[in-house]
Amino acid sequence: MTVRGAVAYAPRPTDAPTNGHAHLNGHRGYADGSATRTRSILTERTLVLNVTYQPLSITTVRRALLLVLSGKADVVHTRPGAIRSSRMSVPAPSVVRLTYHARAPYRRRAPLHRRAVFARDAHRCQYCGNRAECIDHVHPRSRGGEHTWENVVACCRTCNVGKGDSLLSEGRYRLHRTPYAPEPLAIVAAMRPDAPMEWTDYLPRLRPVPA
Ligand SMILES: [Zn+2]
Repeated sequence: MTVRGAVAYAPRPTDAPTNGHAHLNGHRGYADGSATRTRSILTERTLVLNVTYQPLSITTVRRALLLVLSGKADVVHTRPGAIRSSRMSVPAPSVVRLTYHARAPYRRRAPLHRRAVFARDAHRCQYCGNRAECIDHVHPRSRGGEHTWENVVACCRTCNVGKGDSLLSEGRYRLHRTPYAPEPLAIVAAMRPDAPMEWTDYLPRLRPVPA
């Protein structure tokens, strides 16, 4: 995989913090008095990749920057905005890559909740394509359907009421696509309206699966 716009931070010794990383915690003096703005950038999100470019986690800009400053990660993409202190000014990282191989965490299934289902289904009713307003159990719970990613879809109220307790096999409603369990990091990114475009180069796509 190609690395575009790779940036390696190599702070000069005079740039290096002398008080640990306290200057990044938003409570020390900033050269331009932008403490509030700097704090908000620090709490925005950075995608962390393994040395193999596999996505590992989504963390705060602040924690990602600490990985970079301690030599544990390199910046792959930056985001608009800089982090400034009296000693240094660095672009905020959007994607960082670890310099060593980290054991990938055990991937549980993404937690199933309303916002996540809406994000997976792009806020569209999976029966008619109108704006989704609620969640529908494809195989109704009253008829033994489970509350799982594979059995829930975003749905408009009209279809939800119209479908009622009927089964797809009864022929009145048809799904636009088969519901699926999304990759956890992909759904976390999809729920963040401010997720940078470049993350999609590294995260598995929310895949549309034809029904
Ligand atoms: Zn509908």
